[in-house]
Amino acid sequence: MVVSTRTEYETVIGIEVHAQLRTESKMFCSCPTTPPPDGTDEPNTRVCPVCLGMPGTLPVINRRAVELVMLTGLALNCHVETDAVRFERKNYFYPDLPKGYQISQYALPLASNGRLVVPVPGEDGEVTIGITRAHLEEDTARMQHAGRGYSVVDFNRAGVPLMEIVTEPDLRSPAQARAYGESLRELLRAIGASHADMDGGSMRIEGNVSVRPVGQAAFGTKVEVKNLNSFRSLERALEYEVDRHVEALGRGETLVQETRGWDEEAGRTIVQRSKEEANDYRYFPEPDLPPLRPSEAWVAELRAQLPELPVQRRARYVEELGLSAYDAGVLTSDHALATYYDQVVAAGIEPKRAANWVTGEFSRLLNRHASEGLRADAVALRPDGLAELIGEVDGGRVSQTNAKAVLAATFESGESPRAVIEREGMGQVSDTGAIRAEIDAVLAEHAPQVEQYRGGNAKLFGFFVGQVMKRTAGRADAKLVNEELRRRLE
Ligand code: ADP
Ligand code: ZN
Ligand code: MG
Repeated sequence: MVVSTRTEYETVIGIEVHAQLRTESKMFCSCPTTPPPDGTDEPNTRVCPVCLGMPGTLPVINRRAVELVMLTGLALNCHVETDAVRFERKNYFYPDLPKGYQISQYALPLASNGRLVVPVPGEDGEVTIGITRAHLEEDTARMQHAGRGYSVVDFNRAGVPLMEIVTEPDLRSPAQARAYGESLRELLRAIGASHADMDGGSMRIEGNVSVRPVGQAAFGTKVEVKNLNSFRSLERALEYEVDRHVEALGRGETLVQETRGWDEEAGRTIVQRSKEEANDYRYFPEPDLPPLRPSEAWVAELRAQLPELPVQRRARYVEELGLSAYDAGVLTSDHALATYYDQVVAAGIEPKRAANWVTGEFSRLLNRHASEGLRADAVALRPDGLAELIGEVDGGRVSQTNAKAVLAATFESGESPRAVIEREGMGQVSDTGAIRAEIDAVLAEHAPQVEQYRGGNAKLFGFFVGQVMKRTAGRADAKLVNEELRRRLE
């Protein structure tokens, strides 16, 4: 039996992402894309004859949606099309598609031929991924399988603007695929094109994967993997597929091009559809819409609006703020976190000091709430509050230990750290006389240990420091305690 291993094969991956664009109204009508602020969101309330696909209605192009795709194209170094871009009909029947076709772009997308530089954690470096295209289309309705053999359809999502972004088959590992997804998400958030939230469904991802013997130029047979609810699932599903392909080829089997779904619980993929069953969408130009001809001036205007991108921000942190590449990477892997950090620095905190707090204690608290999807921009304690706390520590008015407790307390309440320190009596004791008195008390209480220390057990020094801190409820200035204790013992 021939046993093949993964090292004999090279992995090839291409990624397709659908992102819901951040517009107020839908792609071809004026229905709102988001629920009303009162929190109610009844099915089929944000609908009209256009997005319900009634005969005789006419679509109108959402200008902002077009802009957001162009903006994304520019951020991804794409060529942004200024020739006539046609919308096209992608024809198929499904209950979530009331018109019987989806309006999309096919032959000529709004943006094409770009690239994204992706830092890859663990692989120590970055990869440049070719972007084939980014185009504009509309979302379908949402089907809910109600059980007992019937389904219900909610058209609130029908006609919401969607952008599809497709990569070249440039990725070489599942870890790279995950890193690409995460980088793209932060880029879309940075430019405000999409909330890009996998949990909320505003970002959906599919992976295409194949393997080929190392050294072979031709690609192997690819499989498309769907039903991925997180970047972790993407990575796991691709790992699973690579193993499956290598094992099959090792047994002398040939792979079939097909679409497979990821079963998160079982940790495996399942065939959904083979190539033979693939749809023929009969694309043709949408006769109800004029060709789109974005002017050069419009493109230039958008280019001027581009904010700092994650890759530029990372470089600025290293070159201008003197952060380590590691810290810069951690901060810019999360757009909201980096923005928070920038505001702490803007409030006057020295950049490295601010980075320590934001990537350290602040991120630790943030991660505790990760399952609720909490991001830095929604934390009650605002950046000026964190800056205030760091200022108190640096001014010697609260100990490092107590400052952590104050941060934990104000993180969710948003209270002023200074007010909490005062109210809770957590202010630092820097009065030498008071500290000396505590030291005397500790040494008197632990006479045997003092004897051992003087007899050469130097390790006991830390014990004495700990006792003094305990007596002062963590409020004593640790540096002063060390100095005074040393003087007292020598
Ligand atoms: P399809 O027509 O099946 O949708 P495309 O050519 O549009 O295929 O490619 C879809 C995605 O699959 C792209 O991201 C592309 O880079 C990727 N892809 C194409 N061929 C391969 C392959 N052999 N292995 C892995 N990914 C591939
Ligand atoms: Zn509508
Ligand atoms: Mg395709």
